[in-house]
Amino acid sequence: MKELNEAIRKWGKAIGKDVVKVDMFLNHRIDTALIFRMGEELADRFASARPDLILTVEASGIALALACARALGNIPVVFAKKGSTVVQNEEMVTSKVYSFTHKTENTIRVDRRYLPKGSRVLIVDDFLADGQAVRGMTDLCVQAGCTVCGVGIGIEKGFQSGGDTLRRQGTDLYSLAIVDHIDEKGNICLREA
Ligand code: 5GP
Repeated sequence: MKELNEAIRKWGKAIGKDVVKVDMFLNHRIDTALIFRMGEELADRFASARPDLILTVEASGIALALACARALGNIPVVFAKKGSTVVQNEEMVTSKVYSFTHKTENTIRVDRRYLPKGSRVLIVDDFLADGQAVRGMTDLCVQAGCTVCGVGIGIEKGFQSGGDTLRRQGTDLYSLAIVDHIDEKGNICLREA
């Protein structure tokens, strides 16, 4: 997506060889016009999959999920919560997810009431790296008896394994921008469509 690629070129910073920091427009400060454009683009791509709801994970997936849900005609957004809770019972579906950025394992959880059995779920997240977050959210959907009808991503890091694995598994995956690699000078090199 042209506008997202431009924002990554203008504001994106590489941290080491594998982390892309986009705090200026996506992860700390949010560029409102851009995030709604991103949401519209994902909505256009996945409208024919007829999702009943969007599932994301707190916190940084929520803005893009909301923008996409709005463009899909105000379908609900459900965000998986991280960490443990006192209320841990059979009403909750849970899955363990290793966090690429924090190097820790989190349990993510959703109340079953918000993933009604038989729902068609569009998974949305800001980044795709090794695919752990998407795998965990898919696991929650399976436990709740829902179908994942697509996965929409803001920025995919094409040099990590998540995208290839999901495509190989036949997942309908669409990423608005793909970072091909970070070069030795720290430039973020994009894969152009
Ligand atoms: P995965 O689970 O695919 O390995 O990693 C995706 C999750 O980790 C996303 O939810 C995102 O929050 C975070 N993440 C992974 N790589 C990056 C990155 O380079 N930059 C930022 N800002 N977040 C990332």
